[in-house]
Amino acid sequence: MSSIELKNIVKKYGDGFPAVNDVSLDIADGEFIILVGPSGCGKSTLLRMVVGLEDITSGDLLIDGKRVNDLAPRDRNLSMVFQNYALYPHLTVFENIAFPLRLAKGQHSDDEIRAKVQQASSMLELDEHLERKPANLSGGQRQRVAMGRAIVRDADAFLFDEPLSNLDAKLRGQMRTEIARMQRRLGVTTIYVTHDQTEAMTLGDRVAVLKKGVLQQVASPRELYEQPVNLFVAGFIGSPPMNFLPAEVKGSTLSLPFVDVEVTGELAQKVAGKDLVIAGIRPEYFKDAGLGDNVPGGVSFSAVVDQTEWLGNEQYAYIPFEAHEAVKGKLEELDRELDGEGMRTQLVVNLDARSRIREGDEAQLVFDPSLMHVFDPETGECLT
Ligand code: ATP
Repeated sequence: MSSIELKNIVKKYGDGFPAVNDVSLDIADGEFIILVGPSGCGKSTLLRMVVGLEDITSGDLLIDGKRVNDLAPRDRNLSMVFQNYALYPHLTVFENIAFPLRLAKGQHSDDEIRAKVQQASSMLELDEHLERKPANLSGGQRQRVAMGRAIVRDADAFLFDEPLSNLDAKLRGQMRTEIARMQRRLGVTTIYVTHDQTEAMTLGDRVAVLKKGVLQQVASPRELYEQPVNLFVAGFIGSPPMNFLPAEVKGSTLSLPFVDVEVTGELAQKVAGKDLVIAGIRPEYFKDAGLGDNVPGGVSFSAVVDQTEWLGNEQYAYIPFEAHEAVKGKLEELDRELDGEGMRTQLVVNLDARSRIREGDEAQLVFDPSLMHVFDPETGECLT
């Protein structure tokens, strides 16, 4: 096991825009860290530099305190699991898992190899399939073989590049829990790249969010969710995403499309002098006032619901609003940065399944304004 330190890492392909731009990150021994960000933000490039498949343009990569920039991949003792599994089709499951041990010529006896492969295969429930070829396995089983090959040797760290993205939703869920269990059991330092919100929120000790090669925030999943540093992180983490509402500043009042909110203390000072800010409220922070649930300090308002979706255990309501001209451009830019995942012209409200609010209703809603985030529309920085 090992610590991994990235110091001011830059990657330029040709003379273009840096794919990874001055990234510094300390990953502790045994830590499970997730890299997330929209397509093309540099996640895979970062991982490939750590494993040695890509040269580092500038900066230092340290494993256990030693600079390894110029060390060949095979000398870094890291195990990587690829999105497409990269199994050898002509080898059996046994030989695929044994491959890294056979590669280290003369270091392991046949008995040792058999014992290690069997240990990995029983952990991954592959015992019955050891003599099969990859073509005769299901997607989930192939994924397990790729994991077996990664864990069979005593690697200093595991690197995963979207390992579950080729599996269907159910299998992905199963494998996710298995990866979490395996990492805890082995306690090996792990860097895991994903697009998937659930993987990002559940697997890692910490999550690193990248945008256009630049690290935005590194924090625990809870901290990212509750205290995002800027609009980008706030919009990226959470599904459905945080609502962003234009809020006109009128003294100590923020005037949102449906409701006015009083601000006090430090926030009042921070918004003073601005005409407009962007208020961020997560869908689940809204409650149906008609249910009578207690929302201490709650602010109420009414709005006409355009559409509802009832999912059995929860309900969504969609409420259109006019985006203020002054922030339209900023929110459209944000949508583009987030791969268009945002929905910035309607309020998305996630209600309890007991709610009787239906399409066309004038809904009475309530939310706790202390949960609201406020962003600077120029810099995107979170002011709360
Ligand atoms: P995705 O989630 O789509 O896999 P990513 O976050 O992993 O994306 P990278 O694959 O690291 O992103 O790519 C980062 C940037 O570097 C992109 O703009 C990409 O086009 C560019 N890039 C990646 N590999 C190369 C290469 N071999 N030559 C030139 N540019 C590259």
